[in-house]
Formats: sequence, C-alpha cells, structure tokens
Amino acid sequence: MIFSPTALSPAEDALRHEVHRWLAATLPAGFRPGLGLGGRHDPEFSRDLAKQGWVGMAIPREYGGAGASTVERFVVVEELLAAGAPIAAHWIAERQTAPALLRFGTEAQRRWFLPRIAAGECFFSLGMSEPDAGSDLASVRTTATRTESGWRVDGTKVWTTNAHLNHFFVVLCRTSAAQDRHGGLSQLIVDLSSPGVSVSPIPLLDGELHVNEVVLDGVHVPDERVLGEVGQGWAQVTAELAHERSGPDRYLSVLGLLRAFLAERAEAGHALDDHAAGAFGRLAAQLWSIRRLSLSVARALEQGEAPATEAALVKDVGTVFEQEVVETLRELAAREIDPEGASLFERLLAECVLNGPSWTLRGGTTEVLRGIAAKALSR
Ligand SMILES: Cc1cc2nc3c(=O)[nH]c(=O)nc-3n(C[C@H](O)[C@H](O)[C@H](O)COP(=O)(O)OP(=O)(O)OC[C@H]3O[C@@H](n4cnc5c(N)ncnc54)[C@H](O)[C@@H]3O)c2cc1C
Repeated sequence: MIFSPTALSPAEDALRHEVHRWLAATLPAGFRPGLGLGGRHDPEFSRDLAKQGWVGMAIPREYGGAGASTVERFVVVEELLAAGAPIAAHWIAERQTAPALLRFGTEAQRRWFLPRIAAGECFFSLGMSEPDAGSDLASVRTTATRTESGWRVDGTKVWTTNAHLNHFFVVLCRTSAAQDRHGGLSQLIVDLSSPGVSVSPIPLLDGELHVNEVVLDGVHVPDERVLGEVGQGWAQVTAELAHERSGPDRYLSVLGLLRAFLAERAEAGHALDDHAAGAFGRLAAQLWSIRRLSLSVARALEQGEAPATEAALVKDVGTVFEQEVVETLRELAAREIDPEGASLFERLLAECVLNGPSWTLRGGTTEVLRGIAAKALSR
C-alpha cells in the first residue's frame, strides 16, 4: 500500500479560494449546511455550479467537461462538501458515472451522456445492492436476459439513493450463469422512467426519504445502453471503487457540525476548557491526516493508477473518524439533544446522531474494507 505525500500546487490552492468565494456569494444567508454528500438534491444549484465549469470538471473538453485534473476536481469537491452545499443531484453522475463512461463507455454513450452530466442536467443513481447482496455483491440476482432488440431486466435493487429524483441508474446484473461467481455480471444503464420500473422510498432513522427499493419487472434496455463489455461487470465495478471510496465525502460529513459547535461556544462567550480543547485538537489532527491520505489517492488517480486498496483504507479511517466526531461532540455538548433545538449545532448534532450509523455502511462496510486492506497487505 503506497500513500505518496503530496500538497496542493499554488494554482490548485487559488482554485480552492475561488470556489470558496463563489459559495459564500451563492449560498443564501442562514443556509443550513448538509452533512457532506448528504447535502440536499437541488437541480438548480447543480446547473449553476455547472455554469462555473465545476460539475464533471474532469470530463475532457471534447465531451463538454472542463478537462481538469483529478486533484482540481478534488479541490472543488472538498470546498463544496466543507460548505455542506446541496450537491446530491449531480453527485453520483459526476463522481462515478462519468469516469465509468470515459473508461468503459462507447463513443456514442460518451457523446450523449457526458455533456449532459457536465451541464448538471443528467443525474444518476447506483444500482448495485440488493436485498440479499450488499457486501457480497457477486451474489446479485437481478437478471438481464437477451431479447431481439436488447435485454429484459428483472429483479430488485435496494438502498438506491435518490432513485426517486434521478434520471438513470447503472444496474449491476447477471447476464449469464458462470462457474466463477464474479463472471457473468454486466452493467446496464437503465432509464428510471422506463415502463416496469417501480421506485418505493425507504425512510431512514430521521424519517427522511433519500434511499429506495427499485423493482425492475421486465424492463427493456436497448443494446446501446450496455455499459462496457457484457460479462465484465465485476471488473468494471471494482475499478470504479477507488473513485467511490477515497474522496473528501468520506471524512467531511461532520465539518459543518464541528464549525457549529465552535460558533455556539463563541456566541455564548464560553472558551473551550482544557478537556474540550484537547478533544477538539485530537479531532483536528485526525482530520488533517485523513485529508492528506485522501489527497494522495486523488494524486495517484490523476497519474493513472488504480489505488483501490488505499481508497478502501481512506474510507475506513474517514468514516470511523466521522462517527468519532459525533460521539465526542455529543459528550462535550453534555445535554439532551433536540432535533428542533434552538441552535444550529444542536439540530446538526441530532441529524448526525441519526445518520452517522450509515456512514460506515454505504460504499462498503468497515469490516469489508478492512478485509480488503488485510488481503492486500498479505500479498
Ligand atoms: C444511506 C445508505 C445509502 C446507500 N446507497 C446505496 C446506493 O445508492 N446504491 C447501492 O447500490 N447501495 C447503496 N447502499 C448500500 C450499501 O452499499 C450496503 O448497505 C453495504 O454494502 C452493506 O451491505 P448490506 O446492507 O447488505 O449488509 P451486509 O452485507 O448484509 O452486512 C451485514 C454485516 O455483516 C458484515 N459483513 C458482511 N460481509 C462480511 C465479511 N466478508 N467479513 C466481515 N464482515 C462482514 C458487514 O460489515 C455488516 O456489519 C446504501 C446504504 C446506505 C446505508
């Protein structure tokens, strides 16, 4: 496992300041920050951001993007997440689908989807997990059967974030029975408005409706919507994971909470006591270290490497850190938490307590990520 040290160049740092200023001018006064990638789904914000060239910015210019580097994208994304901006609409399309299309898509798919993604007009969800296939993704049972004009898809996907709001989802499905359980899987791009697709919300602990069960009942998918090669779905999904797991979304869900805690203390005229200052200092040091690891993975991706194991480790330490922040601030708050509380800190803390458990699940659980890291170390 290799984490090469790296830092932002002056140009990358200037970009960071530019995004910071734009967000300060664009987000409304009294804006309530979202919890990192749990920020609101706001197509208008996504389109405005796209006009700045900051959606799908790593997409090459010939496909409507800004042709920016992975680290430039990292810089923009980090600022957006730090502000708790409403990024959910374009999030998956730009983080995951666009790189997958660039790597595995046909020229026609790239020409059709990528300019729309970069314009903040085409939103994607991820259709990997199923009721009996989460960590063990190779056991997916959704099938795609050959028809004369394409594929017929049947099965059930679960935990599909924002399927009720997005346009498409990339479905991992079985296209043939294979001896090797990782073989015979393929990825299809499914239009969420197709006949035969039913989307039902699954309320989370806080009652919010972000995730869904999606039933596919005889859904027709034309041949031109196969992503990559039939039978190569496992290799393709695995290749995407470095993009999914290593980014600032895995350690910045709590930044708004940390800021709100300090702001509340400052407003009340209370300096941090030694215990609180010590706890806060430890969290800040961890945050900075994890950020360096995440930046190092972004730099490796920029150089064409596929640091899947390093990415798994960043997600593990990042999401465990996020949960530790919630527990530490809960202890420092030393009061009953009220989701309708008067202070922003209290409301955000309540939201974090209810949502925090999912942070180590979505995108791969802690146990599974540690298994990946352990296997890589023993090679
Ligand atoms: C808020 C949220 C949003 C999500 N969004 C999406 C989405 O948009 N699209 C999508 O496809 N999925 C999504 N997911 C699903 C997520 O990827 C799965 O929940 C995750 O992969 C775990 O799968 P599972 O829930 O089936 O748990 P299981 O795989 O059943 O795991 C249950 C427990 O067993 C442990 N375990 C399992 N296997 C092993 C092993 N080999 N070694 C040690 N321990 C193990 C796990 O760590 C866990 O503690 C989302 C989940 C959440 C919570």
